[in-house]
Amino acid sequence: MSDFLKGAYDAENFRRKGHELVDMLADYLQNATSGAEELKVLNYQPADEQYQFWEQDYKNNDKDFLALMNKVLDRSIHIHHPKYMGHQVTAPLPEAALAGLLTNLLNNGMAVYEMGPAASALDQFIGKLVAKKAGFGEQGGGILTSGGTLANLTALLAARSIQTGKTVWEEGSRQPLALMVSEEAHYCVDRAARIMGWGNQGVIKVPVDENYRMRTDLLEEYYQKAEAQGVKVIAIVGSACSTSTGKYDRLDQIADFAEKHQLWFHVDGAHGGGAIYSEKYSPLLKGIERADTVTIDFHKMLMTPALSSVLLFKNEEHSFATFAQKAQYLWDKSGEWENLAGRTFECTKFMMSVKVYSILRTYGEDIFAEYTNVLYDLGKSFAGIIDQHAEMELPYEPDSNIVCFRYRPEGLDAEQTNQLNAQIRQQLLEEGTFYIVQTQLQGNTYLRTTLMNPFTGPKELEELLVLVKTTGQKIAEAYV
Ligand SMILES: *Cc1c(COP(=O)(O)O)cnc(C)c1O
Repeated sequence: MSDFLKGAYDAENFRRKGHELVDMLADYLQNATSGAEELKVLNYQPADEQYQFWEQDYKNNDKDFLALMNKVLDRSIHIHHPKYMGHQVTAPLPEAALAGLLTNLLNNGMAVYEMGPAASALDQFIGKLVAKKAGFGEQGGGILTSGGTLANLTALLAARSIQTGKTVWEEGSRQPLALMVSEEAHYCVDRAARIMGWGNQGVIKVPVDENYRMRTDLLEEYYQKAEAQGVKVIAIVGSACSTSTGKYDRLDQIADFAEKHQLWFHVDGAHGGGAIYSEKYSPLLKGIERADTVTIDFHKMLMTPALSSVLLFKNEEHSFATFAQKAQYLWDKSGEWENLAGRTFECTKFMMSVKVYSILRTYGEDIFAEYTNVLYDLGKSFAGIIDQHAEMELPYEPDSNIVCFRYRPEGLDAEQTNQLNAQIRQQLLEEGTFYIVQTQLQGNTYLRTTLMNPFTGPKELEELLVLVKTTGQKIAEAYV
């Protein structure tokens, strides 16, 4: 081996840089969680400028590893900051991040058992453990996979396989197939149907009620209409909760409908499925135990670095039907739990179970319950705070830690109000003091927060509303 390669793998070099990096990250974590003055939640820069920075950085040919890590840190968004209230990724626990360091160095491939013995067994163990928590019986189990999008697609592929008796896998599509889902569902469900070749007619979008939950009173009508057009409805998807609003569909009512027509019942609990761990909030998931499959992201409400998701099966046997394809060189017969690639999209896969397990081993399930309780409670407090501010509008009472609102001063029409809120959000983004996002609800623009960080409190939320208002007032002056 060349000295060049040998030096690159030098263990002492790793030890030194590793210690330096962990020291740097510990200081960072301290600054981020305490919302230190000098650390903005985001140092916003337009994308093209950001690109040019890195292009120049590469030309500079600086070999200092720690300086590079520092630059990446400075130019990233800070999820652990109390003023981070944007998209739905968790503030990961340090132990899980450290487990990530270990698994990155080990790099076990996971496709077959011997390419990750510990992590493969932990995948299976966590699948069983979470399935049990969701209320599935002894038959239940799960597979870990890279994100909720992939988990949902995998669930729907399993549904197609089981519901059509595998004919589609071998013979291709003959009859038009479809699923039913609320119009507020995450876009990846729509995308999954289209990936499977079902087209426009393959996604039957059911309107929502005034609380942004799927209108179960319309299910029969929409179902009959599709069947009359020769479309075979094979599955129904409940959102727990939906992404924009954080509202939970009434899973028990959807389960009744699924039972009546023998549809596959999938619950997309990517964000809110973690509430199974909370005694206080698990009633939102009433009926989840009647689902055939459930998606839960550990990287959203379960404190694990991305990507790490689980797809639960009420009947674990069904997980072997998803990809009814032979790849004999990898696994000898179906039904072997330990060769994971038989049941997952991925061939090589992250050792994600190690990160999840490190949390369970260190803190137990209680920490998941605590995280959900603190953040969902905070969502309710925030709604109360919004209510107390004149000219702030709350479109619905939140179920979860996803809270939408908008600034609506008198004298502006609907279009101006939408434009104003979009401009407020853009200005906040560029200032970098708070990070929030925006969404469309029934055609109107709302500011959207997801309270992902237990270091966020009422003080920050008050401060946000004041900033939204003063920013909005300044912008609105130009309108009149
Ligand atoms: C976030 C989310 C998804 C997508 O999950 P990824 O892990 O980002 O792929 C799917 N459904 C819902 C309801 C979500 O909130």
